[in-house]
Amino acid sequence: MTRCRGCAAEIGPTEVPDCPTHRRKQGRPLTNADIAVLALEASHAPISLYDIRRIFHREFGWAPGEMSLNATVAQDRRCCWAGRGIYGLWRHGLAPGPRRLLDAARLVLSSRDASLTQDELAFTLRHIGYRFQAATLHRLLAQSPTITEPSWHRYTANSVGAPLHLELGLPLSAFETVTKRVARQTRAALKERRRRLATDRGLTGDDPVFTEGKLNTSAPYS
Ligand SMILES: [Zn+2]
Repeated sequence: MTRCRGCAAEIGPTEVPDCPTHRRKQGRPLTNADIAVLALEASHAPISLYDIRRIFHREFGWAPGEMSLNATVAQDRRCCWAGRGIYGLWRHGLAPGPRRLLDAARLVLSSRDASLTQDELAFTLRHIGYRFQAATLHRLLAQSPTITEPSWHRYTANSVGAPLHLELGLPLSAFETVTKRVARQTRAALKERRRRLATDRGLTGDDPVFTEGKLNTSAPYS
């Protein structure tokens, strides 16, 4: 595992060990994008663009305009989208690439061989760290041609259009690393969801629990 030279944190496939925090300590020049990453490196969790700009200003005595900084952060593949106007890093559990909820949902679905229910997908996305309204996800699943419903209320990624790694702006090797971790996070999230459902029903973790779709009855309206 590669670690940040400045922060010792695990670094992601779109980051370099020679991080902005480290470069700043050495007195080397930083771009605006580097400074945004530096602000994220100083945070334990994803933060808003507003906070990135505030930290930028606090540390360097000036900051680019809001629109300019937003564009810089959105274009930088080290910065990971976590929700409307919220960004984090690989070390916060997020994936580089997605810039909207649809991208994140497609990434989770494409990392799996099996389909997910809307509830499983929503739980997984929140578990990974994405913030969104349930209604937004509902609308995306119903309307996006890049997500299909192979059986009643179960969703899977559709391979129409350009390969996902190109749409996410990731080199294939980075995409593979990202997908592997997202698949692991998804398995962990689904396990946690089952555990909570079992707890809610007063069962132990070993008792069989019915979860949606597990009966595999034929879809009534397909
Ligand atoms: Zn660092």
